[in-house]
Amino acid sequence: MGFIWTGLILVANLAHLPPLQDPTGRPLPTGYHLQYPWMYLLFAPVFSTWDALSMLSMSRLRWVGVWALVAVLCAVAALLISRRRGGARGWPIALGLGVPIFLVVGALWRARPIARLTGGPVDEVLVDFHSHTNASHDVRGWPVSGFDVAANRRWHARAGFGAAFITDHNISTSLPADDGRADLPILCPGREASIEGLHVILLGEADWVGAVARADSLVSLMRSLRPDSILAIASLPEYSLHAWDRLGWLMASGVTGFEVVNASPKANEFPRVRRDSVLALTRRTRGFVVGVSDMHGWGATSMVWNAVTVPQIGRTRLCRDIIGVLARGAPSTSRIVERARLRSDDWWPEWLAPIGAVWMTWRTASIPLVVSWIGWTWLLVSLRAHRR
Ligand SMILES: [Zn+2]
Repeated sequence: MGFIWTGLILVANLAHLPPLQDPTGRPLPTGYHLQYPWMYLLFAPVFSTWDALSMLSMSRLRWVGVWALVAVLCAVAALLISRRRGGARGWPIALGLGVPIFLVVGALWRARPIARLTGGPVDEVLVDFHSHTNASHDVRGWPVSGFDVAANRRWHARAGFGAAFITDHNISTSLPADDGRADLPILCPGREASIEGLHVILLGEADWVGAVARADSLVSLMRSLRPDSILAIASLPEYSLHAWDRLGWLMASGVTGFEVVNASPKANEFPRVRRDSVLALTRRTRGFVVGVSDMHGWGATSMVWNAVTVPQIGRTRLCRDIIGVLARGAPSTSRIVERARLRSDDWWPEWLAPIGAVWMTWRTASIPLVVSWIGWTWLLVSLRAHRR
């Protein structure tokens, strides 16, 4: 068994895929790489599997849930059989308990060791344009309700971000004054507005009370905001679901940016053929594209970063400088860095999602991660042989 498992890991890794890419097709600067904490490397099979599952789309995650249920049912069956016949079979019970616990811990352990993006050019700052705190209705009242502004900032720091926009649903969360801590990112103001079936990310500060009071449509909302200080980005999956044939109208309304990568499971369904259509549209119209975490506190993995070239990386003007760079619409000053993963439109059948996700982990793994996977394989094989 050890030889088969080792062979599979090595074969997958021989068909190596770069772990990072820019969805626009531009080559990434060579320095960018994922940095792993020592605990991640030591227990790579556990942490990299959590990462792979956290980057799945909703349709594939449902199949992970189905297999977890199968594991629980197997455990119950094994318990019933062992009661009737005597002699417990330990492994199905361990599997039935272990799989759901593994999934729940991976989803809720916010501070678990994660991969951090590092090594880019010194004039590029890593930015997240869309993230939430427990001021949002879909964080408050859930098991992740402790994800407040400070927790959001710590998570962005662990993932390597230098700036993060807080975009709670239909409110402007008050942000603390900058404390000057260089080890934590700058927090920037924004909000996620729900209007006409769409979710629009509004970056910057504005007279929200007046704007929202006057807005009964996207057009009137955008008119009431000063376009030189606010930047509007259409969020996934809503524009793909509800405005796919009206992208020109969206841009005419004042929305100049589009998310083409969003790490939330529902938005992660976005197929590459649609992504490429949006890229073509924004190239023609001097719009811009971004990749966002849409972090709500679930699943600690960071899947995507934006690297923005700012004139000067100073703390006081950073948020405004980032908005200014995107508003000018120069594609060379902003890039998306996303992690390779099992995508919704990959050839793997949906019901094989857990195996496909681990296979992609092996294909994109660095040598230290491969060594950790093979090391654990042989440790478990030798422990099993010893017990016999
Ligand atoms: Zn959101």
